[in-house]
Amino acid sequence: MRIVLVGPPGAGKGTQAKVVAARLGIPAISTGDIFRANVAAGTELGVQAKRYMDAGRLVPDEVTIGLIRDRFTEPDAEGGFLLDGFPRNVPQAEALEAMLTGISVKLDRVVELKVDNDEVVRRIAGRRLCRNDSGHIFHVDSRPPAVAGICDICGGELYQRDDDREETVRERLRVYEAETAPIVGFYAERGLLASVDAMGTLDEVTARIIGALADD
Ligand SMILES: [Zn+2]
Repeated sequence: MRIVLVGPPGAGKGTQAKVVAARLGIPAISTGDIFRANVAAGTELGVQAKRYMDAGRLVPDEVTIGLIRDRFTEPDAEGGFLLDGFPRNVPQAEALEAMLTGISVKLDRVVELKVDNDEVVRRIAGRRLCRNDSGHIFHVDSRPPAVAGICDICGGELYQRDDDREETVRERLRVYEAETAPIVGFYAERGLLASVDAMGTLDEVTARIIGALADD
């Protein structure tokens, strides 16, 4: 199956991409992974992408599309793929469609993860990390430390990442609504869209995604 996964920050998209792809026996392909792999391998497009990233600029769509095309034509992606993190807006969706047509590949499904914005803010803004080890993660509601502000595991100081602040999360959700949400309509028009409720446990959401992919 050839799948695109779309969803707002905080929907657990990256995790679901890996779990669902493993379940289906197809590679999970994210633009971040493709950039890193091509930069490390020193490919021509990787060198171009690095030039933009080093300058703190966005990698142009045509470079990203070229990298995705190359990745899709690798042997492990022949039987399908799950693309995560692209497209992020309608022009990118159009460019992806044109590229796929060029290599005679059709998408089977675009899965949209749906969340409640206030719940996303609650989940993310409640996170607290330990200054000694970023793997020591707490949550003010769902996993509070025994002593407020102190790591249960090592006694380190707990803090909130800047990216996790409520205003930052709300801004990312606004950007998603304005720029990325319109691609949902783009794929609905093409009969490819499956919307999935992403509120719930990891396993519950995985089961819903697999279910949505099954009913064709
Ligand atoms: Zn700790």
